Amino acid sequence: MNVSKFLPAGARFVRARLLVLLILPACAALAQSAPPTVIAHRGASGYVPEHTLEAKAYAHALGADFLEQDLVLTKDDVPVVLHDIHLDTVTDVAQKFPQRKRADGRFYALDFTLAEVKQLKVTERFNAKTGEPVFPKRFPAHRSTFQISTLEEELQLIEGLNRSTGRKVGIYPEIKQPKWHRVQGHDISRVVLPLLHKYGYATKADPCFLQCFELAEVRRLRNELGWRGRLVMLTEAKAVGADGTDYAALSTAAGLRDLATVADGIGPAISRIVTWNAAGQPTFTDLVALAHAEKLVVHPYTIRTDELPKHCPSSDALHSALFKESRIDGVFTDFTDVTLAWLRAAKVR
Ligand code: CA
Repeated sequence: MNVSKFLPAGARFVRARLLVLLILPACAALAQSAPPTVIAHRGASGYVPEHTLEAKAYAHALGADFLEQDLVLTKDDVPVVLHDIHLDTVTDVAQKFPQRKRADGRFYALDFTLAEVKQLKVTERFNAKTGEPVFPKRFPAHRSTFQISTLEEELQLIEGLNRSTGRKVGIYPEIKQPKWHRVQGHDISRVVLPLLHKYGYATKADPCFLQCFELAEVRRLRNELGWRGRLVMLTEAKAVGADGTDYAALSTAAGLRDLATVADGIGPAISRIVTWNAAGQPTFTDLVALAHAEKLVVHPYTIRTDELPKHCPSSDALHSALFKESRIDGVFTDFTDVTLAWLRAAKVR
């Protein structure tokens, strides 16, 4: 019911002014920046073994904006969702296929067909040498039943959940070690891109960020392979990556200006933005400001409440340093619910 016609003219004027007073600051805040993006790092990996469909479904339910997929190829060129090129820190491959390790003692996804990979049981991440869990308070190791999924299976899961919930959760696929894959005779990017297109991820308007740690591949994706969606350059804490990417140079004003000709954002290690001294006081770099000057979004990794950065006093201090002081655009988090709760309490979501 419209009550304004029953109000005297003066009251209507006061109500209009109140509305303006309420709406203007909200518009100004929105114009300043979009609400921060919450990226479920390997799914809800703080609660469920990483990269399983169960971890993705849980992250979707917890309210993540994007779900991350790390991608490696099987022997028969099927992209599977797995953090490492190795299988031995998250599966029972050493028990099921003891003869299939390479000379370095490791088991590589690329040496197994999809049919073989599907025989493996996924578990919470453990140290392959000691058998000890990497995150002792998380899901217990070697319990229940989880599988490695293909990229396509995960895209169908997200498509299905988006349909049944009415939400629009995006994807954040990472091309893992493309240079290594090519040395082994496999071109992972050429396999992944058609699948992304098939599921409707093709332009910058689509809910997808493609990410990679290798600068040569980021350039290749844009210039040679025709990727027209959003693209994020990941940077490690160390100066130079295994493939030769110079992360230190990439983090300078000149490096970022050049990067902005192909990429839409950066995904730096948190320590490239903020570090803490022994007293728990943060020191900030100028990386976020430099990236924003080039219109690059900044999505650092990774918030882990059970493994805070060195000397960082608390999860709250970490979120505050990143979102309040540094004004990042989004974050990779193992704990979607904790990050969302902080953002809501800070009234930026
Ligand atoms: Ca990743």
